[in-house]
Amino acid sequence: MSGRPASHLFYQGRGRKPVLEQARGVYMWDVDGKRYLDGSSGAMVCNIGHGNDRVLAAMRAQMDKATFGYRLHFETEASERLATKTAGLMPPGLNRVFFVSGGSEAVESALKLARQYALAVGQAQRWKVISRFPSYHGATLGALAVTGYAPMTAPFDPMMRPMPKIPAPRAYLDGLDPEDPATGRHYADMLETKIMEEGPETVLAFIVEPVGGASTGALVPPAGYLQRVREICDRHGVLMITDEVMTGAGRTGAFLATDHWGVPPDIIVLSKGYAAGYVPLGAMVAHERLVEPVLDSGGFIHGYTYAGNPLACAAGLAVLDEIEREGLIGNAAAMGERLRARLDGLMQKYPFIGDVRGKGLLLAFEFVSDRASMAPLPPEAKAFDRFVQIAYEQGLIVYARRTRGGYSGDHILVCPPMIVTDAHLDEITEGLDRSLAQFADELATRAMT
Ligand code: PMP
Repeated sequence: MSGRPASHLFYQGRGRKPVLEQARGVYMWDVDGKRYLDGSSGAMVCNIGHGNDRVLAAMRAQMDKATFGYRLHFETEASERLATKTAGLMPPGLNRVFFVSGGSEAVESALKLARQYALAVGQAQRWKVISRFPSYHGATLGALAVTGYAPMTAPFDPMMRPMPKIPAPRAYLDGLDPEDPATGRHYADMLETKIMEEGPETVLAFIVEPVGGASTGALVPPAGYLQRVREICDRHGVLMITDEVMTGAGRTGAFLATDHWGVPPDIIVLSKGYAAGYVPLGAMVAHERLVEPVLDSGGFIHGYTYAGNPLACAAGLAVLDEIEREGLIGNAAAMGERLRARLDGLMQKYPFIGDVRGKGLLLAFEFVSDRASMAPLPPEAKAFDRFVQIAYEQGLIVYARRTRGGYSGDHILVCPPMIVTDAHLDEITEGLDRSLAQFADELATRAMT
């Protein structure tokens, strides 16, 4: 890698990565022929695996017809069909679909639709969007304003309108029982307290990742939490927006994470698994009750050039068809339970794993220096970076984060594509075990636990 010429391309830093040659199913190969098992589906994106023939065929068929039609000039069959299909997968009334090209755009769209709804119904004083910390809702300034993740937000604070935040329900850190409904009430009531502090007439919406993503490491809400959040929102006329960018399209073992608890939000945002990495695509799905007044009041003042792109929509449609045809949501639920049991086994073996959590195939484990206190590993250990590197060298891709801003902890997300088999789970578990053993040696050498 070191002998390569300098790149004109840049992302986060100067480090170079292996060059991807091919990807198929759960595997990826670099140009040197090294094989990787994609244990995180990229960034929890490639839910149906790589190189799916039926999706590629659907994309080719659409490419032969048209790859672009500007939404203000043409409707396309692909976007119409995907909107109808998507609406059919949503709770009743959530049947208005607005296409975008990614998660951040979907979140921006949700915030703006919520605001325009308030204006349309004569509630111009409502503009505050409450969210949680930690949380991640996207990199654009609007989405970042509701993101609770200081390492990414702090440099841009002066450029954003501060939005109120409440703690995410990390019962495992607070020593509370997540199965006890009192725990769910405890955290949900923080929303009501915040609404009262801010002045209920000023609060527009609450945005929440129903099962936490990268920021909290697959945080599952405690019993009754989402139901009570819904009640609180209703009581104060606050819209409930669920960010299902990572959880949507089946990853947690239900099409929407909120389906597990039967809680219907007002607006849902989807991306990642929605087109499973085949093309950039996302959607904001809103209740008709919100969209109608906005359209009556002159229309939604928002939109992106690539919205409803026919190639993207054809790919999205083929992905949803594939999920259905292959029963991948059921597989995510079943395989998720088995993988979870394997991770629990690894926790028995490695004392520096302090928690295993998640739902379906959105799973994570968290490193600690002491299980009793759940104290994190020291930041100098750069545990999440190092562990990802070790696994990568072994040919296993996992996704990791260190969550700062109130709490320091390293969590590793293990989220393979929803097509995984038992044999893949064996391979993932062995890869993790080998990587954890090496990581344990390194920790011991550096006396970090
Ligand atoms: N919301 C959530 C929950 C996410 O996980 C992400 C991406 N990690 C986003 C929003 C932003 O999506 P994108 O990176 O596609 O803009």
